[in-house]
Amino acid sequence: MLPFGVTFYPDQWPVETWEENFRNIKKAGFNLVRFNEMAWDWIEPEPGKFNFAGLDRALDICAKHGLKVLLGIPTSQVPPWFYRLYPASRPVAQDGTLYPEFGPRPNVCKDNSRYRRLAERLTKKLVARYKNHPALLYWQVDNEPVYPPLDHTTQNDYCHCEDSRRAFLVWAKARYGSLKKLNEVWGTSFWTNHLSSWEDIRTPKAGIWEAVSPHIFLDWFRFKTDSLKGWIGHLAKIVRSTDQKHPVGTNGFIGICTRVPDHSRLCEGLDWYGLDIYPKGGRMDERGLAFMLDIWRSFTRAGKAEFHVTEMQGGQNVRWGCPDYVVGPEIKGWTKQAYERGAKALLYHAWRPPLFGAETGGFGILKADGSPTKRLDVIKKLAKEVAATFRSPKHGGLKTASTAIAYLRSSEVQTYQEQGPPRGIAGQWEAVRTDIGLTHALESASGAYQLVYKKNKELIDFIFDQDLEGGKLPYKTILLPNPYLLSRRQHENLKKWVATGGHLITEARYGQKDENGHLYPQPLLEDLLGVTYDHGEITEDGFLDVIAGKPRKYFILVKKIGRGKVSYANFSLFLTIRKGASKWQNTATLIRTIKNSL
Ligand SMILES: [Zn+2]
Repeated sequence: MLPFGVTFYPDQWPVETWEENFRNIKKAGFNLVRFNEMAWDWIEPEPGKFNFAGLDRALDICAKHGLKVLLGIPTSQVPPWFYRLYPASRPVAQDGTLYPEFGPRPNVCKDNSRYRRLAERLTKKLVARYKNHPALLYWQVDNEPVYPPLDHTTQNDYCHCEDSRRAFLVWAKARYGSLKKLNEVWGTSFWTNHLSSWEDIRTPKAGIWEAVSPHIFLDWFRFKTDSLKGWIGHLAKIVRSTDQKHPVGTNGFIGICTRVPDHSRLCEGLDWYGLDIYPKGGRMDERGLAFMLDIWRSFTRAGKAEFHVTEMQGGQNVRWGCPDYVVGPEIKGWTKQAYERGAKALLYHAWRPPLFGAETGGFGILKADGSPTKRLDVIKKLAKEVAATFRSPKHGGLKTASTAIAYLRSSEVQTYQEQGPPRGIAGQWEAVRTDIGLTHALESASGAYQLVYKKNKELIDFIFDQDLEGGKLPYKTILLPNPYLLSRRQHENLKKWVATGGHLITEARYGQKDENGHLYPQPLLEDLLGVTYDHGEITEDGFLDVIAGKPRKYFILVKKIGRGKVSYANFSLFLTIRKGASKWQNTATLIRTIKNSL
């Protein structure tokens, strides 16, 4: 069976409508339905008092109609009774602000010990109860795991509670082993920051864009990924200790670096990892969607997690995305693209638009009154077509990638901190802030993708810090956007790979800082190309390397190394491609040169 499904939340609809909804879901051609991932209060309405009547019934109806279920274990959001019992458990912002009680999701800090205990209990209860249910196909732990909040509702950074501080301390101790090493990496001999005891460790509360140590800032984000990964892995382990049969995974989205964890690491150890994607909400064209799908598939490449699309936009977005109407035919293209680019399961969000709550009226395949739409017609036809085309393991997907784009998380976080969000401060960074905002790394990666994307030909892989660190690089071409932070080992591996015949295309700021954000006295660019770096500048397009003996203008330098070559642009090449034209200099010829070299 090729999993082809939709979300439908029985707890949001009168019980007498369930039968009809599930029957119609099956009739539409779906074989999978997802629910319960955000409904802790449905099954534990009062602390310790469980009520599974609704969930029992919903699963039984699914089984009766031959529908399989992706069942959520709803620990991402705690019910209001949690804060009645534990008012001191609210997440804390860097300035001490407590997280709003009815604020955006998620509403809980995953380092909180009281939350963890209750979430573990809930997980055990659900798995024990439903592990043999005939409708069960997949388990989902958590939902879009992040530290609160997952969106831009506030610029506050969470969580700085005592449990998170303690977890950060334990993490740093395990990572560095000695205070000496920690002081070195965090560069504490600057502005009187030397730590003389592990207990001196604090979470970085200066805010995410102020003059906080860039090294601590980087580790704070690494810690967040590791902490989330540890917790999600722990929940998966609880599931597997009782049920070894049903695959367990979770979902997530691609977005701004201060909110999302490093997905390439979070998915390690899960059986499936699902992308939530809203192409119209993000006004993505075909290439834009392919970019997101290729990134997500690549996140799952190293581990054993299957690539899923857990939420594909099924209707009009709500107020936080572009509200462009989803007519129907566009869903066909989105769906085929997802399967072609390697998705092993796909679910739309959602069967019906909710009549209440923060997503009122959003995303439904059906109209609010339950009547059919053009979208439903399209999906019904697709169900047959998709099953016929993509059912076999060797389905009509695209050719294996010969090109990879590096998406370097450490570089991204460091670049973000140095830019900061747009704000009315004059100075050399102002143009960069205004023009490229908060997503420099992702935008640059998108420009690189634009350069090599060929419609319906082959997949494009994304590679990450750990791939460059490991050195196994089975590609003909590697594009390296935003190469600001590189370890010596990553650099040596890239050089070796070029010497064996690879083509490396890179841009300004190659290897200026090491993996911890310390400046190299001589950037690695000098070793790569045999040039002398003079200084860096900010332009309206991003960054400019000025090279000794070369004019202060944009250029591309090609150097042969062994059997391969490096094409280096001394400006933000990929961002310039993304933006379409340069205000600073005419780059059309330079971009053509790069294109022709592929
Ligand atoms: Zn916390």
